[in-house]
Amino acid sequence: MDNIGPISLWEHTSEEQAAQSAALPDKVLDVAIIGGGYTGLSTALHTAEKGLSAHVFEANHIGFGGSGRNVGLVNAAAWLPPEKIQNILGPVYGDRFIRQFSDGPQYVFDLIERYQIRCEPTKTGTLHVAHSAKGLKDLRARFGQWQRLGEPVDLLSAEETADLVGSERFFGALLDHRAGTINPMSYCRGLARAASAAGAKISTGVRVQKLKQIGDLWQVTTSSGLVRAKAVVLGTNAYTDDLWPGLQNIFHTIHYLQVSSASLGSRADKILPARQGLWDTGKIMFSLRKDMDNRLIIGTMGRAFGTAQQGLTQRWAQKMLKAMFPDLGAVSIAEVWHGKIAMTPDHLPALYQLASGLWTPIGYNGRGIATGTLFGQVMAEVLTGKDPATLPLPITTPRPAPLRGLTQQMYDMAFSAKQLWKAL
Ligand SMILES: Cc1cc2nc3c(=O)[nH]c(=O)nc-3n(C[C@H](O)[C@H](O)[C@H](O)COP(=O)(O)OP(=O)(O)OC[C@H]3O[C@@H](n4cnc5c(N)ncnc54)[C@H](O)[C@@H]3O)c2cc1C
Repeated sequence: MDNIGPISLWEHTSEEQAAQSAALPDKVLDVAIIGGGYTGLSTALHTAEKGLSAHVFEANHIGFGGSGRNVGLVNAAAWLPPEKIQNILGPVYGDRFIRQFSDGPQYVFDLIERYQIRCEPTKTGTLHVAHSAKGLKDLRARFGQWQRLGEPVDLLSAEETADLVGSERFFGALLDHRAGTINPMSYCRGLARAASAAGAKISTGVRVQKLKQIGDLWQVTTSSGLVRAKAVVLGTNAYTDDLWPGLQNIFHTIHYLQVSSASLGSRADKILPARQGLWDTGKIMFSLRKDMDNRLIIGTMGRAFGTAQQGLTQRWAQKMLKAMFPDLGAVSIAEVWHGKIAMTPDHLPALYQLASGLWTPIGYNGRGIATGTLFGQVMAEVLTGKDPATLPLPITTPRPAPLRGLTQQMYDMAFSAKQLWKAL
């Protein structure tokens, strides 16, 4: 387990309740789904809606992975600017990917509305803030590319950014009107509720230990017994274990930490008054948002060290908040946590076929709320016979990420050094 205490603030503030665990199926399933995060649950929801028998097996509890630990920024498309996406994917897939994933946040907000998921959706956009003049130049280039595609983004001046953030530290910002924020654990639990209502089953505390193809069926060995299925979808992402040999090696795992303040009441009124979440243009980026109880949640790349009461990470958070909001005064820290992110070598998500009847959407590079939700819909189409040539990404086979161990160690060291430097 990759846990340093409570898995996140969101576990305590989620209005949606955790789902009851279902018994193991005794019939052959249309699809066995491994992992109870956005990917697995959205696959369950969309396949059940198409009339398939779907069963999710989650080793821990719903939202245990990235889905219950993230910042809650419902962002559009991918990390990369659109022209880079087109260069990597080519004109056909590039255009299709950008179109479908640009609409990703709207798809998420529509599902929230349709299933009345109580996850504090805020549709005021997100802010990519420039930490330097060079960062602003990068944002200007991104702005031009999105504008040419007719997408609703604005480039804000330093003064406009200061009004929306409540801090004068930034050189400008890209305001993406497609995006917004949610309580990520609530959304995950709400997806589980919607999937169950559509007829899917969910078993928690059940680890899948082995997958074996026998004839046309998959034999799925779980910690609670054997199951058989016509197809299997792995939704394990950065929390992938050694279930499918080599799958862990296709991405670099990085950690991302977050620190939540206690509720600040009216003291936080001038900070993010419209509740856009933000992240900056720094190479080792940080993020900031405010929840419905006026807690500030600040995060950065790297592992969390210590607890809410003491240690490097809470010191880092207090220093960062003081530097950005000098008038805020002392802030007490309520929660500290981290999670794992799967980074692919080309910074784009992938849809892999691992064997006949076995797929995994994977490697969301820290942008998984809309991505995981959309991939669930895509998997339902694949499983009901949609022509793979019409999908937003080609279905490919995995290749190991080069120099994985070394790269991960270098990331880890760089992130820890920056945290230490900022906490001094
Ligand atoms: C700290 C942090 C901040 C982030 N911020 C954002 C953000 O603001 N916006 C955004 O869009 N994305 C963000 N992300 C990324 C996003 O959270 C992930 O991409 C997304 O949650 C992945 O969802 P998933 O369902 O694919 O995988 P996960 O949610 O990671 O779920 C995988 C599940 O598989 C289970 N599992 C693994 N092996 C087995 C097995 N053998 N048997 C049964 N179960 C198994 C695990 O227990 C886990 O619950 C962030 C991620 C982190 C960690």
